[in-house]
Amino acid sequence: MGPLASRDVFSWLLVASVLQVSSVRLAQASYLCTAYLNISYTHPETNRTTWYQEEMGLYGQDSPKASVVGNVYLADPIYGCEEDTVYSRPNDSRGWIALIQRGSGCTFSDKINVAAMNGAAAAIIFNDFGAENRVIQMSHPGTSIVAVMIGNYRGMELVQLRVKGVPVSIAIEVGKQHGPWMSHYSVFFVSISFFIVTAATVGYFIFYSARRLTGLRQQNRKQKKLKAEAKKAIGQLQVRTLRQGDQETGPDADTCAVCIELYKAGDVLSVLTCNHFFHRSCIEPWLLEHRTCPMCKCDILKALGVEVSFHTRTVCRPRHIQKTSIRRYKAL
Ligand SMILES: [Zn+2]
Ligand SMILES: [Zn+2]
Repeated sequence: MGPLASRDVFSWLLVASVLQVSSVRLAQASYLCTAYLNISYTHPETNRTTWYQEEMGLYGQDSPKASVVGNVYLADPIYGCEEDTVYSRPNDSRGWIALIQRGSGCTFSDKINVAAMNGAAAAIIFNDFGAENRVIQMSHPGTSIVAVMIGNYRGMELVQLRVKGVPVSIAIEVGKQHGPWMSHYSVFFVSISFFIVTAATVGYFIFYSARRLTGLRQQNRKQKKLKAEAKKAIGQLQVRTLRQGDQETGPDADTCAVCIELYKAGDVLSVLTCNHFFHRSCIEPWLLEHRTCPMCKCDILKALGVEVSFHTRTVCRPRHIQKTSIRRYKAL
């Protein structure tokens, strides 16, 4: 039970920690922040200024949620992946905004960092062809500038203007934070799951300790009872005192298997039910603990008919009889 139980506890804790980590992840991912884009440009032919504002963007997960105003310049190539990407702009331009298309096998972080390296204050990344005006929340660890995603149509409109040489200015403003309720929910969820996991773990340990304690107590009681029975059985064993001239004390004298000393006249022996005999002072402490013959393992409780209900050892008949004891018993 011991090692198995601790392995169970270990795997339980592992599952618990994974659960908690994933619920924290959930809490982070559920936080969305939209971006208003104020777009203005002047048609070179008509000289008419167009201005509109729309909540069309979504801040990236790792972006500062901040406002940025600036002229828009296109990445060339439009995917803006490579370090040698060109942003054609006046030399003195500051606080400008990079317009980049999603895709081409590099990460959002790559695109945003290349733009930042070129001096952009923000990066607007428009979605893939075919995504229409849908946006996703970008994940772009390791970046520092504002990063916003807009839909493909909106992005292509801006690209066409810029390709025609129309100056475009954009103000990015922080929109609504979708998900405060989501965040609260997540915090609630994390707290609840933490509570449940902690309670379950503590509960399991209490249950486990209680079981162990009960087991120990039962074992203790059993040991005490067995000792009492052994004492009773020892009282029934035959006792002999060796005399001068007894076979066991002669030149081919036997040794006590417990203390390995030769028997001599005056020694007091206990004869077990299997007919093995030992010094009484040697065998009694052993029998109190083990209740079996040290030579043949026969159970003296069973052999003497002392009833112990939970005891299931083999009954021993005097099968392995020492030569000397056969002689002695015949002589008796
Ligand atoms: Zn002995
Ligand atoms: Zn024996």
